[in-house]
Amino acid sequence: MDMAEEIRSTLKISKEDSFRDHLATVDAKGKRKWIYAQKPKGKFYNIRTYVSWGFFIIFFSLPFVYIHGRPLFLFNIPEARFIIFGKVFWPQDFFIFGLTMITFIVFIVLFTAAFGRLFCGWVCPQTIFMEMLFRKVEYLVEGDAASQKLLKASPWNRNKIFRKTAKHLSFFVLSFIIANFFLSYIIGVEQLGKIISEPVSEHFGGFMAIVIFSGVFYGVYVFFREQACTVICPYGRLQSVLLDRNSMIVAYDYKRGEPREKFKKTASIDAGDCIDCFQCVKVCPTGIDIRNGTQMECVGCTACIDACDKMMKAVGKPTGLVRYASENGIANGERLHYTNRMKFYTVLLVVLTGLLSTLLLTRKDVDGTVIRAAGMLYQERGKDSVSNLYNIRIINKTVKDIPLTLKLENAPGRIIEAEGRAIAVPKEGQGKGSFFVVLPGKMITDRKIKLKIGLYEGAKKITTLSTNFMGPIYHPDLK
Ligand code: SF4
Ligand code: SF4
Repeated sequence: MDMAEEIRSTLKISKEDSFRDHLATVDAKGKRKWIYAQKPKGKFYNIRTYVSWGFFIIFFSLPFVYIHGRPLFLFNIPEARFIIFGKVFWPQDFFIFGLTMITFIVFIVLFTAAFGRLFCGWVCPQTIFMEMLFRKVEYLVEGDAASQKLLKASPWNRNKIFRKTAKHLSFFVLSFIIANFFLSYIIGVEQLGKIISEPVSEHFGGFMAIVIFSGVFYGVYVFFREQACTVICPYGRLQSVLLDRNSMIVAYDYKRGEPREKFKKTASIDAGDCIDCFQCVKVCPTGIDIRNGTQMECVGCTACIDACDKMMKAVGKPTGLVRYASENGIANGERLHYTNRMKFYTVLLVVLTGLLSTLLLTRKDVDGTVIRAAGMLYQERGKDSVSNLYNIRIINKTVKDIPLTLKLENAPGRIIEAEGRAIAVPKEGQGKGSFFVVLPGKMITDRKIKLKIGLYEGAKKITTLSTNFMGPIYHPDLK
């Protein structure tokens, strides 16, 4: 009994399930098995090609879309500044960001419970770049899977050197372009333009970022490939807990297909529809056999559906032996339906989306905090007035500079700005200042009085901030 068999017998894994013992891309000695995926042809591949064009248009044009002088999207992680649909989010908006993340995760869970890995197969950037860009270039330069294998086995002659150089050069140029666009989502196209057009010494960090990103993309698409989905991607790793027997997956109809039998003019009476032609395996970019059932390595790319449909048509059998279906659908003939689990996630998603929308709609473009200066209680001003010193910090999330003046909203006192002028708050920046609030002594009927301070741009009120005023309690009898 070899080690694999011993493990199987200990874990009571049947021989049919033995494919779960190992990765399709690793051999018995632990060496990487290179996948030479055959080029898919068919309805789904054509639709995916159109979808990928849409993706490329969006991916390569979004960094140039600006709203009111701001990019539509910016994910400036180093400066903790995010712009989503033209709205700036600061570290102070962290709770909105956190709630957005939670809503997004619930959406992913709901989407996966209902539609399995539809995202991976159709819109994941990794799959689209790999299958719809790099692999197409590879087919163009090295030919289909069989030619690629031949080229690999052939000696280093002129043809091989030319093709390999052309492939690696095109892969690097594509990686370089993607890296630049990727960076533009982080720093914006204007900053990227400066890095490209100005001397390297002035933007060494940016230049290094382009070099590193280009190298990473090149490494992923030349060497790492499907391993990004099968080994690294956390979403892929979560499939086993997100999917259930009612989720829509790419599935092999074993009830119809088994027992499989090689195609013959006179097939056995009990033979299933699968002609064991291995076309579904040959096109699979992750190297698995979909006939083994749902597997974590399946990215739902539909290549096996196209391959099998083609074979079914060729042998005059109905298509759909491999198709979108649920496990229950294949086993019990159930139609795809909306389960209680999906209903629960939907309610949760609606609540979270409602909460998030309210927060976004009520979010202020100018906000700030007012706190009493530390270490100071109050100052007596003459016989009849008392003042408190405050520090104010204001965040301006708009795209214009705002000179702010302050007004007391709920008391008859006055405000004296320490600098004697309005507080300048630069666009997309922060402003700070100090001021005194002076109240008539007779107003002070409590140790702590709640104050409301309005922030004004000219006559226009921007927002109201709250703070406390402290002073000696006024006793009319002692006057
Ligand atoms: S099994 Fe089919 S759908 Fe899954 S990755 Fe392979 S070819 Fe794509
Ligand atoms: S392509 Fe279809 S018929 Fe051929 S082996 Fe796969 S499932 Fe069977």
